[in-house]
Amino acid sequence: MPPLFPALAAGADRPALRFGAGPDLTYAHLAGAAGALAAELSGVRRVAVWATPTTETAVGVLAALLAGVEAVPLNPKIGERELAHIVADCAPELVLTAPGDQPPAPLAALPHRVVDLAAPPVPPPAEPTDDEAPALIVYTSGTTGPPKGAVLPRRAIAATLDGLATAWRWTADDVLVHALPLFHVHGLILGVLGPLRRGGALRHLGRFATDGVARELASGGTILFGVPTMYHRIAEALTAGDEPLAKALADARLLVSGSAALPLPDHRRIAAAAGRPVIERYGMTETLITTAVPLDGPPRTGTVGLPLDGMELRLVDEAGAELAAWDGETVGEIQLRGPSLFTGYLNRPDATADAFAPGGWFRTGDLAAREPDGSVRIVGRRATDLIKSGGYKIGAGEVENALLDHPGVREAAVTGEPDQDLGERIVAWVVPTDPAAPPTGAELADHVARELAPHKRPRTVRFMDSLPRNDMGKLMKRALTAGTS
Ligand code: ATP
Ligand code: MG
Repeated sequence: MPPLFPALAAGADRPALRFGAGPDLTYAHLAGAAGALAAELSGVRRVAVWATPTTETAVGVLAALLAGVEAVPLNPKIGERELAHIVADCAPELVLTAPGDQPPAPLAALPHRVVDLAAPPVPPPAEPTDDEAPALIVYTSGTTGPPKGAVLPRRAIAATLDGLATAWRWTADDVLVHALPLFHVHGLILGVLGPLRRGGALRHLGRFATDGVARELASGGTILFGVPTMYHRIAEALTAGDEPLAKALADARLLVSGSAALPLPDHRRIAAAAGRPVIERYGMTETLITTAVPLDGPPRTGTVGLPLDGMELRLVDEAGAELAAWDGETVGEIQLRGPSLFTGYLNRPDATADAFAPGGWFRTGDLAAREPDGSVRIVGRRATDLIKSGGYKIGAGEVENALLDHPGVREAAVTGEPDQDLGERIVAWVVPTDPAAPPTGAELADHVARELAPHKRPRTVRFMDSLPRNDMGKLMKRALTAGTS
């Protein structure tokens, strides 16, 4: 395989990375700093990277990739128990940090190496040639259980980034803007390695803020990546009349959301105020990005678009039989095959074996239907988002969207709880827009029944101050249901 980062070897004097208020690091500078660190890492098998949103994190990961050292990006805000689980699981030999960082107990005992951006430059080494060898080990988000380490080879990284480049015509001229954390696929592989593979630039905000988004898009940014909680804040700012933000979004080339479903009301508010759709793509730590709404063609709102080049996607029923209908209604589990798939879970041969169906199809656990044009419409996760109530199968997502359409609802989650008569009963968890004057449960239930259908009416509505979300803004439904079923 050709190198992952051809622009790095060329060492051009053009901007590569900028984090927060820091300076622009050029490709030449980046190549020299990553080359120096790569030389020091030779002989090491696996490093942990204390993945703060900094240039040092990007340089650390890049150096490891160049040196053929496995890199494990770690969430710097992670709790000590989860950190201990991950460190015991992946057993890194060394920790890379930015200056001033002091990772806590489970890592403190390991040798540290502070990434030095001012080190005397060393030309980057030739990239490793074994494309199937583990390159990155990225832990899943832990939404449905303890995080699992997905082993990702270079082949998968190249495939997903090139598939997205084709779908979005992502080039060296693009300037990507985002504020995503650097320890998941979204922020690290797409958000840092993506621009570097293209030879383009990244401007990372350091911290998400709508004025930072407006500023960077208005001064050369062409693409915005975000998770739904960020687009929700953008939608709220637009509703409050933020004109500079509306203009900056309107001028961007591409607004992309991923990692979880973007609620339709936010879609609509942004499209109305900025005159520009947000498009979605779908992926998992294990498969990287597998579908995206292409740049050319309609925005396909409410769908995650079409399979990327080289990816095969099918829907199967509970018996594992393929569902071929593209009728927008037939729902099945998404299974995937293709070059962006991981090679397995670290230290978990049984979980790896269980994850694949005969024929090498990866079982995602996500449910979807296909529209007549082939677009994939995600319904939710099989484990938490499909409610079997009174003989019907109801997707939590559409009930959540209906609730969010009510002006009294700020945030909503829908789960199923055991019920003697119905099998499961629909339960809504609602954060009201105005806590001093919340709507009544009956009013919200009637609203859903009217918007959707009577059998989709929530039987119980519970009001909350906030919903449990992880660092990517993903709803942690297992935390909601833990105490009740
Ligand atoms: P864990 O596997 O540890 O329980 P997780 O599945 O949330 O956590 P990730 O690999 O980060 O960990 O997330 C992948 C999941 O995110 C997908 O299986 C899917 O449910 C969801 N997802 C990603 N993109 C989208 C999207 N555009 N729309 C809806 N869901 C999405
Ligand atoms: Mg998962």
